[in-house]
Amino acid sequence: MWPYFPHLLNRPVPRYTSYPTAAEFRADVGAADLAAALDGLPAGALVSLYVHIPFCRDICWYCGCNTERANSRRRLETYLAALEREIDAVAARVSGRVRVGRIAFGGGSPNAISPIAFVRLVDRLLTAFSAANAEISVELDPRGLDASWAAVLGKLGVTRASLGVQTLDSGIQQRIGRVQPAESIAQSVALLRGAGVRSLNFDLIYGLPGQTMAALEDSVQAAIAMRPDRVALFGYAHVPDRIARQRRLEAAALPGQQARFDMAQQGHQALLAAGYMAIGFDHFALPEDALAVAMRAGRLRRNFQGFTDDNADALIGLGASSISLFDHLIVQNERASGLYRARLEAGGLAAMQGVRRDAEDRERGLVIGDILCGRPADLTGLPFDGLESRLKPFTDAGLAVLAADRLRLTADALPYARAIAACFDRYRTGAMAGFSAPV
Ligand code: SF4
Repeated sequence: MWPYFPHLLNRPVPRYTSYPTAAEFRADVGAADLAAALDGLPAGALVSLYVHIPFCRDICWYCGCNTERANSRRRLETYLAALEREIDAVAARVSGRVRVGRIAFGGGSPNAISPIAFVRLVDRLLTAFSAANAEISVELDPRGLDASWAAVLGKLGVTRASLGVQTLDSGIQQRIGRVQPAESIAQSVALLRGAGVRSLNFDLIYGLPGQTMAALEDSVQAAIAMRPDRVALFGYAHVPDRIARQRRLEAAALPGQQARFDMAQQGHQALLAAGYMAIGFDHFALPEDALAVAMRAGRLRRNFQGFTDDNADALIGLGASSISLFDHLIVQNERASGLYRARLEAGGLAAMQGVRRDAEDRERGLVIGDILCGRPADLTGLPFDGLESRLKPFTDAGLAVLAADRLRLTADALPYARAIAACFDRYRTGAMAGFSAPV
């Protein structure tokens, strides 16, 4: 059983999918920085591509993603035309010099566009980047996944997919504006397995309005019965001041901090009992899955897609709001699809904000990555004034051990990992407005 220390969980903290986090992005970093970073990639560098499709069949009320309804064919077409422009502009700077190992489609829901449009998009990417052997993964909304989509994914050789499942409780589905019967999930699984997807992820959520321990247990067990290779069990982050659509959720029906903690623990235990391995603080994988193999080998990393076994030198984001990650730079494209389109039509790149990473950022980023990925962190030579006092509540509680410039989290520390990582964040010394609860 995880020990419960409410005073160590009451401070919202970043999810640390990058360091520095998006809260540090500034407008004086943009397209020129991105161009220089692309031009500076060395010959032979291994890169991954992330392609953002900011459209969904329907918008779920809890969703914090940058997405809008796919209810205008013309809007989709103009967006995809801009995306092709960006693909060509970026590829012109790196193609022939770098190797593309992976292409990930996310959103939104990539299957909000038509299967034919998706084929065309993949073809454009593979041709422009000379990336015929790249591994392709895609996030999918089960509600729009049919046999024609599965056939296309099979033909394109997609081997990894992630399904937005969230909860299988029909009453909670109504309360969060996402109704999808369990049968449609099972059908999606059968279609994807039949199409050759060998690594399948389910996203599940705890902390939803009206959700009880029993309801979560039922959803987790129903998910386990479908045997996804990976499960991501996220705590719902309620930030209605920032995300207007969340105001439709009944705030009074949201579980409190202790209930959320108990749910995280219950889901964790159920997945471990079913043979999954814990990956970081909120992912799980079957022991033979690549994520579990990377975890055991100490190769687990954290990026904008969560925990990953991706070992690329750089991540290039394509599409509105997508983020590119280089050793010295993190840079984000225009978030609004109209502005994104306008930048590309004007002949430039679409980056509009970001942060340059200095040596200290990179060192702190490595420490934060080690903490979140479950490895001891080497603190040798780092200028961490006041660090011991920041860590003291966690070391006093037996959640972390600091000795000989090494920090090790104990087995009970998983739900506190983000809060411990925040001790190393030089930008988080005051209020943490806009972030989410550690559990
Ligand atoms: S389908 Fe996914 S991305 Fe789209 S609104 Fe729902 S949760 Fe958000």
